[in-house]
Amino acid sequence: MRAFFIGRFQPYHLGHHEVLREIFEEVDEIVIGIGSAQESHTIENPFTAGERVMMVDRAIEDLKRETDFRKAYIIPLEDVYRNSLWVSHVTSLCPYFDVVYSNNPLVIRLFREAGFEVKKTKMINRIYYQGTEIRRRMICNEKWEDLVPESVVQVIKEIDGVKRLRDIANTDTGKSVC
Ligand code: ATP
Ligand code: MG
Repeated sequence: MRAFFIGRFQPYHLGHHEVLREIFEEVDEIVIGIGSAQESHTIENPFTAGERVMMVDRAIEDLKRETDFRKAYIIPLEDVYRNSLWVSHVTSLCPYFDVVYSNNPLVIRLFREAGFEVKKTKMINRIYYQGTEIRRRMICNEKWEDLVPESVVQVIKEIDGVKRLRDIANTDTGKSVC
């Protein structure tokens, strides 16, 4: 049984981690789509697809030790800006999968319309485990490290990610999100 899960992972956080842990209890293999793969160096999407692949890959190493799941394929997926074609875009780029896990209403609808089995995932501590909140904390020099797995903290340090995000957030208007 192979599952599909998609996120932008800007960055990968403990909400994603707990959802994947639950999926790994149910399936042997998973395809993880890195959405909006073409995006990077913006406030909403600071990290490149390759950097996000590294975050997901290293975080999953920990889950592999803790569950008996076997394999994850991590596939960067660019946006197509045409929802009616999106599922075929995804399936044309990914290994075959039997079931989709998501809590995103559009993702759920598009895959169900295409005839896929879709299982709804639950929200975990959404106030804090949220990419937008983690990026805000990085920009505002607040503590963000306890909201992502330790392996992801390491990747972000290696790529000097917080400095990049702060540089990007620094506009010439003098306005600040903090
Ligand atoms: P952003 O605020 O940048 O949109 P995000 O936290 O929503 O970040 P995404 O990469 O957009 O992260 O999310 C990928 C998928 O994971 C989405 O379907 C999203 O609803 C889900 N997800 C995000 N945070 C959580 C969470 N805390 N618990 C469960 N699912 C989550
Ligand atoms: Mg989101």
